[in-house]
Amino acid sequence: MTNAQALDALEALKAKVEAGDVDTVIVCIVDMQGRLMGKRFHARHFVDVGWGETHCCNYLLATDLEMATPDGYASTSWKAGYGDYIMKPDMATLRPVPWLEGTVMVLCDVLDHHTHEAVPHSPRAILKRQLARLEEMGFDSVMATELEFFIFRKSLDEIRKDGFRDLEPLSSYNEDYHIFQATKEEHVLRPLRNHLYAAGIPVEGTKGEAGLGQEELNIRYAKALDAADYHTIAKHATKEIAWQQGRAVTFLSKWHNDHSGSSSHIHQSLWQGGASAFFDENDALGMSSLMKHYLAGLLKYATDYTYFLAPYVNSYKRFQKGSFAPTRTVWSVDNRTAGFRLCAEGCQSVRIECRIGGSDLNPYLAMAAQLAAGIQGIEERLALPPPAEGDNYDGETGLIPQNLRDARDALKHSAMLREAMGNDVIDHYTRAAEVELEDFQRVVTDYEVARGFERS
Ligand code: ADP
Repeated sequence: MTNAQALDALEALKAKVEAGDVDTVIVCIVDMQGRLMGKRFHARHFVDVGWGETHCCNYLLATDLEMATPDGYASTSWKAGYGDYIMKPDMATLRPVPWLEGTVMVLCDVLDHHTHEAVPHSPRAILKRQLARLEEMGFDSVMATELEFFIFRKSLDEIRKDGFRDLEPLSSYNEDYHIFQATKEEHVLRPLRNHLYAAGIPVEGTKGEAGLGQEELNIRYAKALDAADYHTIAKHATKEIAWQQGRAVTFLSKWHNDHSGSSSHIHQSLWQGGASAFFDENDALGMSSLMKHYLAGLLKYATDYTYFLAPYVNSYKRFQKGSFAPTRTVWSVDNRTAGFRLCAEGCQSVRIECRIGGSDLNPYLAMAAQLAAGIQGIEERLALPPPAEGDNYDGETGLIPQNLRDARDALKHSAMLREAMGNDVIDHYTRAAEVELEDFQRVVTDYEVARGFERS
């Protein structure tokens, strides 16, 4: 966005504030977990001075789901005094928040308080770095994320009071593509679709998914940074709108061992001059050589970046045979048993869908890591192996890391990601993985007690 466009956006907001249509501006960053963190400004303060910059404590990019202050991060610590970051509003992301009265929202880039440089481990900065590499090569990254989640009958407060036990999904049988079952969820989903659309997020639709009370939200493909912003805001809106309706939603990858997991498939293509650079009408599957190198890169480095698709201990419970979640990093033509599915083969919209990621991923990190792998595939001119066929749950090659510890090790030792993203970034997220492992190691789970209490 040019300065002139930013000023235009500000002027348009000023007019709405003057007219009394807007009184609140949510000013936020995206944290390591892909959540919106920030402040609410009185709209008059925002249009007067707040839009230039504001500040947040730098622990926001060195914390965990519970907002703890774990040690071991080079970027900040108790010793360093947990100082400030600059939150710099990206006025191109200014949008209404139609599900809250008189409210608009803007996403911020995170800058170093002293140098005013982008903080390298900020998720938006990580994605922008890979997009800049692509731009230099002459390409745009076009992505779409699918977002699955479960809706529960009770509210979040009731569920917390119940100790997260006896969770009751909103519907009682498999609702995959099921119109009647999904109708029972329309009090959450209709406002979700309409409010997001009114917020400038190009919602395609929602559909029932295979689990009880499970839904999927589809948003039209866009340039990668926009697609990541859409994903983040849509996930946030889903939680808030469900909360307004007295319901709870979860984006846990796997909330119960007997129920299906929730994914976030990522559709990806590279474009040049407004057309897909992945399409070649002379190829049997319509795949350009650029696409083949990119996909070969995704495959070669899939283990390196699995952490960014599955960042928690829980994320790895999703990878079960026969579950529609993949277990192997192979590619296949329109085949949902593979880690990578070729979609729309032979057509302009030919693309690759990565099916590994869970709904708990951070889209900026997931997209950036895959772009790094794809770019590396292009630079190495990697040859694409033939597509896998049949039931890809059979077979022992290319297994997705089985747990967070293995994914953490692969991340830590990835020369490709260190080169592409920087050592500081990889060390930072390796530490984030360790924090999750250390915390899980510390606690005794319900499973262990029930299994061993009497019988061990
Ligand atoms: P599915 O069969 O997986 O449900 P859809 O037709 O719903 O597939 O498309 C899934 C996603 O792919 C949508 O969000 C759509 O916008 C996106 N998509 C379509 N064309 C492209 C493309 N060329 N590059 C990236 N994403 C795309």
